[in-house]
Amino acid sequence: MDTLDKIARTSTNTRSTTAFKAVKPIKTITVRKVLKAHKIRLHPTAEQEAYLRRACGTRRFIFNWGLAEWQRQYAAGEQPSALALKKQFNGLRGSESPWTYDVTKCVVEGAFDDLGKAFANFFAKRAGYPKFKKKGKSQESFYLANDKFIVGDHWVQVPVLGDFIIKQREASGEIITKRAQLKRRLGKINLAEKLRFVGTSGTTSKIMGATICCEAGWWFLSVQVAVEVPQIPVEGPPIGIDLGFMRLATLSDDTRFENQKPLRHLLAQVRYLNQQLARRQKGSKNREKTKRKLARLHYRIRCLRDDLLHKVAHQITERYGFIGLETLNVRGMMRSRSRALSASDAALGRLAHYIETKAQAHGTPVQRVGRFFSSTKRCHRCHHLREIAEDERTYVCFNPACGWVGDRDLNAALNILEEALRLASLAV
Ligand SMILES: [Zn+2]
Repeated sequence: MDTLDKIARTSTNTRSTTAFKAVKPIKTITVRKVLKAHKIRLHPTAEQEAYLRRACGTRRFIFNWGLAEWQRQYAAGEQPSALALKKQFNGLRGSESPWTYDVTKCVVEGAFDDLGKAFANFFAKRAGYPKFKKKGKSQESFYLANDKFIVGDHWVQVPVLGDFIIKQREASGEIITKRAQLKRRLGKINLAEKLRFVGTSGTTSKIMGATICCEAGWWFLSVQVAVEVPQIPVEGPPIGIDLGFMRLATLSDDTRFENQKPLRHLLAQVRYLNQQLARRQKGSKNREKTKRKLARLHYRIRCLRDDLLHKVAHQITERYGFIGLETLNVRGMMRSRSRALSASDAALGRLAHYIETKAQAHGTPVQRVGRFFSSTKRCHRCHHLREIAEDERTYVCFNPACGWVGDRDLNAALNILEEALRLASLAV
């Protein structure tokens, strides 16, 4: 549809420029609805953190209950579903696990939602069979429905949180006055920054939901916002992109994005902490401390890597009007051990994904080139094929009539561009 749209636009452009030279062609600007997420650090008090932990624990319990029940029903020849299980759980809840009422009911909704999605992904072969969630092993999180929380300037009102703390205080013998006022104050968790996308001029936005999660001992609120943004097409030349381990991305116009390899760089620190962790006594305070340090280091590496990938994807999609990309075999890459580290480091699959989503926002067509297209072996100028070793950085064409010599990745990028343009012209 994007390409058709473009053709329609260019044909009206030519007509208008020949007929009325003074009139500028009007671009058709369509409005697109995109789902964006903003992850904000939370600063809960100790009392609030206890609630967050409880909610995560409850969610873990419900998910595991659902999974066990699913397996039991399936073995008994029934056809379980997340929705039916939720109804069943809500029926038993009061008598069997009344403590789940201590936290917001969003936790129940979210847990069965996740269970349903986990099985949907499994049936669609996007993921393995759902696993039981273990404390401290799986990601701790819970869901908040869009009508159950309020985001303010620098705070988020979490449902049931105020009640929970008041009950705990009362249980320890404190006498509560001005209950409603206190409840409101205690129910607000401090946010490290203001929520983006909402209230920006020129766009309409709607909060779709949120997740609260704990990562490396820090708490985060991740808000999903549906934003309606005008799709502004990029007027630019077509480009082919070669993604790689040595250099992150090489474009067919010889623009190069080096790989900063954040993991390699901080690997010495990771190794050191892993050694320290192995020396600590199991169950000791020091072990917990080292564990947290290691988790925070990994978190930092993840952030550094993601930041780089977003910036590269942004630069590419702001400049070019057509993008040719290769189809990566990320799973295959991770399987070969020597390459696994570099592969996870460069996170090539994620970069390709970011390029695609950012291009979509502009309506820029992205053409994928098949996995078996030999972009590295072929000379882009004469199509002569040759074997090329992994460590050979320069491509030398063996065809005596051609003899092109140049960067290996540049040659691949030019091949990808040519093939992508060919495939795109077939599709029209
Ligand atoms: Zn050649």
